[in-house]
Amino acid sequence: MQWETVIGLEVHLQLATRSKIFSGSATTFGAEPNTQASAVDLAMPGMLPVLNAQVVRYAVMFGLGIGADIGRRSVFDRKNYFYPDLPKGYQISQFEAPIVGKGTFEIQLEDGSTRDIGITRAHLEEDAGKSLHEDFHGQTGIDLNRAGTPLLEIVSEPDLRNAAEAVAYLKALHSLVTYLGISDGNMAEGSMRCDINISLRPMGSQTLGTRAEIKNVNSFRFVEKAIRHEFERQADILENGGKVVQETRLYDADLDETRSMRSKEVANDYRYFPEPDLLPVVIDEQYIEAIRAELPELPTQKRHRFVTQYGLGNYDANVLADSRELADYFEAVVERCGDPKIAANWVQVELLGLLNRSELPIGESPVSAAALGALIARILDNSISGKIAKQVFEAMWQGEGSADEIIDARGLKQVSDSGELEAMVDQVITANAGQVEQVLAAEEDRRTQLIGFFVWQVMQYTKGQAKQHIVKKKPVNNTKM
Ligand code: ADP
Ligand code: MG
Repeated sequence: MQWETVIGLEVHLQLATRSKIFSGSATTFGAEPNTQASAVDLAMPGMLPVLNAQVVRYAVMFGLGIGADIGRRSVFDRKNYFYPDLPKGYQISQFEAPIVGKGTFEIQLEDGSTRDIGITRAHLEEDAGKSLHEDFHGQTGIDLNRAGTPLLEIVSEPDLRNAAEAVAYLKALHSLVTYLGISDGNMAEGSMRCDINISLRPMGSQTLGTRAEIKNVNSFRFVEKAIRHEFERQADILENGGKVVQETRLYDADLDETRSMRSKEVANDYRYFPEPDLLPVVIDEQYIEAIRAELPELPTQKRHRFVTQYGLGNYDANVLADSRELADYFEAVVERCGDPKIAANWVQVELLGLLNRSELPIGESPVSAAALGALIARILDNSISGKIAKQVFEAMWQGEGSADEIIDARGLKQVSDSGELEAMVDQVITANAGQVEQVLAAEEDRRTQLIGFFVWQVMQYTKGQAKQHIVKKKPVNNTKM
């Protein structure tokens, strides 16, 4: 049987506010355990939550970024469950009236094509604390620093069809929220975590199969592996005539497998009810329009602009518009050198290549955009070849100076002055009288081949700095063959 994979993702995004969603505690990552937990976060009796206004702004920015309906009146609810790192015994979340309603989201696939993915909703909630098992033998430590960190939970429609699309969706989402500046998107620190809902159905079928939900996957690579693995597991069950059980599973990256955490056949056991300690959030048109007016250019818009304004292909535009810093860098290079295609190529191949190798973010590139632009300008005005430029770039990376300084110091300027070249060609011819005899004696069709020897000699002589097509012309003229 041919199976179609159906995937819907729930992404938990930590919002980049300085303080928590309902208390004044700091949200800095990596602080000493329980140093950023106030009486509110500890759920002391009588403590009342106060909503952080910045959280609402960020949620609205996201909603506008995906063209979604913004909830004019959204309501916080209590989601009741017991867990040691949730001292209140409930999580404050939003259930029936989320702040962001339906929207769509364009993702870009490897082959350059795009697809629209539906967003069902995005709602605000608080993060839980952390249970620490490693440091306490036979016991569990509780760190409540994370408790109350603002989260935006973004729920997609079951529109994704394979691991590559799921990863493309997450990358596009990552790009959007970092453009908006509403999250640092740091997956390794848990700022963006993802639950994967996945089911299979016979190819061509329109009804949804029973899903399993894989919890808390926190890297693009693990998302891909978890989906591949879960596809195999479910296909195996279905092909042997079995039934997939609706359950929550955990992806174990070390073993590369998913295993059952709890069965979830009854979906709604949280006894949601409206949070009595918080008023509904009511926002008006003016508030929304003020936020809209301040939105930056978003990744999709930038990508389209790169295609129309600079004539880039979809793939290149997508890579370069992926982060705001990279896009700004690229545009600064173009401004300096004036050629978007060569700039795109240099940024993607040479710059990103060296950044990856040195594991540096674009913000710490040792070569500035203006400096790279100045180097490319030297290729464009024929001072150096593309090949020599790579050497110069490496030297710039090592801090040896600007492109012009390095070209001068190393004497790399390309020789295209024909007088100078002619003199060299003459020298080569005089020094290789034997080879000249051969050329003169050779058949017409062998000659070009033999002349290659002289071109090579001249290139050696000038350490590759001569312009090849000029050199090729000279021996022919000079020896009147
Ligand atoms: P819950 O809150 O219990 O996880 P939801 O109905 O909110 O359930 O769905 C959560 C996610 O699961 C959504 O992203 C949705 O697209 C996805 N989903 C729902 N049904 C299926 C299915 N049969 N196969 C794959 N994904 C699904
Ligand atoms: Mg879920």
